[in-house]
Amino acid sequence: MSDAAHEGSGLRVVFVEDDEETRRLVARNLEAHGYHVDLAADGAAAMARWEARRPDLVLLDLGLPDVDGLEIVRYIRRESTTPILVLSARGREEQKVAALDLGADDYVTKPFGMSELHARLRALLRRSAGPERELDGALVVGRIRIDTSRHEVQVGEAPVHLTPREFELLRVLAASRGRVVTHHRLLEAVWGRGYTDEGHYLHVYVSQLRRKLDAADPGGDAGAVIVSEPGVGYRLESS
Ligand code: CA
Repeated sequence: MSDAAHEGSGLRVVFVEDDEETRRLVARNLEAHGYHVDLAADGAAAMARWEARRPDLVLLDLGLPDVDGLEIVRYIRRESTTPILVLSARGREEQKVAALDLGADDYVTKPFGMSELHARLRALLRRSAGPERELDGALVVGRIRIDTSRHEVQVGEAPVHLTPREFELLRVLAASRGRVVTHHRLLEAVWGRGYTDEGHYLHVYVSQLRRKLDAADPGGDAGAVIVSEPGVGYRLESS
């Protein structure tokens, strides 16, 4: 078996997409990567496939002819934590946020490349493993090491001095590395429930955090691991 064919290693995917050409091309590619793919062209078929197959993950186009794709997310999340990756059109940031708030795990914006889709799928399938953990419980993402018990951060060997809020922001992103965390969820986790409309806080704190990570890094670009997803949230790149 080639490396590519090993990637999906027999995982069962229900792929919901009304556009026939996209459905065919993506399904063929996923199958070449070792996934077992079940197809659905509308919402009714999606729910039937979901009930019949109980797949390992769901790849869901939100723009369906019969029902709003968000209804499918809601339907699956009533009873299951199966990973859901949504496909959403460019410019539909509110729809992406709504899908994530309903419990979808991540999204890819159309049109997308297959390498991007596979990167998102890998991040999703790693989610139960979470960030790499060292024996003392530190989170490790690339060259960044976050010691959650001592509240210490290092880039390589260099210490990074963070305020408690900056630290918490980095910790929350690291705990979901590779997957987008919405502005709303970050604000709630770091500042609390009363602050979920204060998006400018995030902008300021993320800038500071990036600057401090960069300053501790001889290469000067450690802060680039924090990626903005405009209108949606932030993600910590995992590679
Ligand atoms: Ca569609």
